Parts: sequence; structure tokens; C-alpha cells
Amino acid sequence: MIKLLIADDETLIRMDLKSAFKGSCFQVVGEAQDGFSAIKLFKQFRPEVILMDVKMPVMNGLDASRIILELDASVSIILLTAYCNEDLMIEARKIGFSGYIMKPINSSNIIPTIEMMHRNFKNYHSAQCALEKTQRRLDNRIVIDRAKGILMKQKQCSEDEAYQEIKNVSKERNFPMSEVAQLIISNDQVKVT
Ligand SMILES: [Mg+2]
Repeated sequence: MIKLLIADDETLIRMDLKSAFKGSCFQVVGEAQDGFSAIKLFKQFRPEVILMDVKMPVMNGLDASRIILELDASVSIILLTAYCNEDLMIEARKIGFSGYIMKPINSSNIIPTIEMMHRNFKNYHSAQCALEKTQRRLDNRIVIDRAKGILMKQKQCSEDEAYQEIKNVSKERNFPMSEVAQLIISNDQVKVT
């Protein structure tokens, strides 16, 4: 079951949505009437999908989504909106929504629509994470290579020996190799200036 949260200030819409999810792969874990309670319920139930109305009292759906995505970038947030203008779409893309559904909601096809948006977002998010990991690894390698070069010059040692030294310090001090390398680079820059 996929945990889902409904956030809409209109009781009727929440009721309709809730009944549409009966017997589906989605389990409605909570209902919020405003953005503030959406954040509260998100922290409590950790849903994977949130249906988020844009216009709500206390805190609107855009602000609530921004805060939720800062807490957890892997949650699929789907906007529910009665209007759809260019400004809203630009804002929505910036915040990182998984999609949007126009009101009035057609509950007959809402399940496959949300399922597809959620699946696409999950794929996108894991690809994004893998990309960031690769980039971080690449950045670390560049830093370690630079530090190796500095050590080779300072100690007149081989590349292997320089690498081994970074590795040993990293082990002894329980610091990642990239941070040890960064320290070596910073110390060298201090000496130069
Ligand atoms: Mg509303």
C-alpha cells in the first residue's frame, strides 16, 4: 500500500477523494484542512504521496509543499488546482511538484493518474540521487588527486605513497579521505600566500 495524505480545505473534496481511493493501492493516512496541518500530518505519518490543494487558509499549499520537500525531497506532491496559469506552473516546477490535477476532480481516472505521477517522480528522484552521488564521487576524486600532487611535491614521494598517506590519516582520524585531502590543499594554500 502507498501511504497518501489529502490536504484540501473543502470537506466535500476530501470526502470524494477518500472514497475514490477505497480498494486501491493507496491508503489515505490523513486529511488536512490547511497547509499547516498538512506539515504536521506529514511528520506524523510520513506519506509517500500528498494531494495538495493550492488555496487553503492559514498556510497555502505552495508554502506547505516547500517546507515538506525541504524535510524530505523524495515525497511526491501533486497539486490540486482550479486555476492553472503560467506563473503557478513556473512556481510549481521550482518547488519540485510531481504533477497537478485540475479541479473539478474526475475521480474515475484519478487512481492511475496519481499512480503514474508517483512512479515517474520516484524514478526521477532516484536518478537524481544517483547523479548527485556520481558527481560527489567525481568531486572527491579531483580533491584527492590535487592533495596527492601536493604531498608528492612536499615529500618527494610516489603517487602510491601519497595516496597511502591520505588513506592512513583518514583511517586514524576517522575523517573521510576527501576531507583529509581538502585539509592538505588548504594548508598548502596557506603556505603559498
Ligand atoms: Mg482550497
